[in-house]
Amino acid sequence: MDKDILLGSGLPVFQNHHDNSRVFVQLSENAGCPVGCKYCYIPNVGQEARPIGQSTMAKHLDDLTTADEFTNETLVSLGCDTEPLLPETIDTTIQVLEYFRNRPNPIQLATKFRLPESLLDVIKLRDIDAPPLQVSTSVTTIRNASRLEPGAPNPTVRAENFQLNPEEHRVVSIAMMKPYIRGTIDEVEEFADLYAETPPAGIVVGTLIAKTRRDQRKQPFALDSRRDHLPLADEAYQFMDEIAQHMRDRGVNVPIWNSAAVATRALLSLRK
Ligand code: SF4
Repeated sequence: MDKDILLGSGLPVFQNHHDNSRVFVQLSENAGCPVGCKYCYIPNVGQEARPIGQSTMAKHLDDLTTADEFTNETLVSLGCDTEPLLPETIDTTIQVLEYFRNRPNPIQLATKFRLPESLLDVIKLRDIDAPPLQVSTSVTTIRNASRLEPGAPNPTVRAENFQLNPEEHRVVSIAMMKPYIRGTIDEVEEFADLYAETPPAGIVVGTLIAKTRRDQRKQPFALDSRRDHLPLADEAYQFMDEIAQHMRDRGVNVPIWNSAAVATRALLSLRK
């Protein structure tokens, strides 16, 4: 992800140069997150998230949506710089969702938390012609979640998001394994059990494989995007094959992708 400022305003909106049809809206002024995932690539992982003021964000959203590059089809992504459902960020997240309530843009939200009622209430009011909110709930490991994602709820709690559906909640809910962590293939049956219990609308296995650093004391960031990212490894593909098979064995058939953006577009456009 390139961290370029789209509009030159005080607050950055991250945009991926390889896909101009997508914007990443920053929800924390310092791009910080106290959840402290060991593989996270944001600059201030383990630090508090600093809320963005309401009026500042309102101006920022106006600047964004009036920019020449921005269209009704631009995918708006939340959760690239922090966890969007923290006590420090939830108000800003809801403000953004309110802002887009009557706009047709597809919206994608990545989280490790269960969606609160306050947010679901806003989504239910979304314009009926606008696509449902696409929620990517991140579960990278089941056995090692408390060690690798120390501030996040248990994966079983996160999986409650998979009960959300387009008809009742206006949410398309997918499971996201991003990054894929080497060795997680050993947990494939546990993942299949979790997803068979409450099937998500789809599963995304990250296009990068990550390894955690050995010395967490010297290197609090488990993953440095320049040094530790490796091309998608055979093991991640093997995981995709195996979880598909295990799900079928359990009588559950859900699509599996290796890109959240592609999954979002596929799921939302399928519903048109
Ligand atoms: S919750 Fe997300 S943003 Fe926060 S530390 Fe974990 S991976 Fe990073």
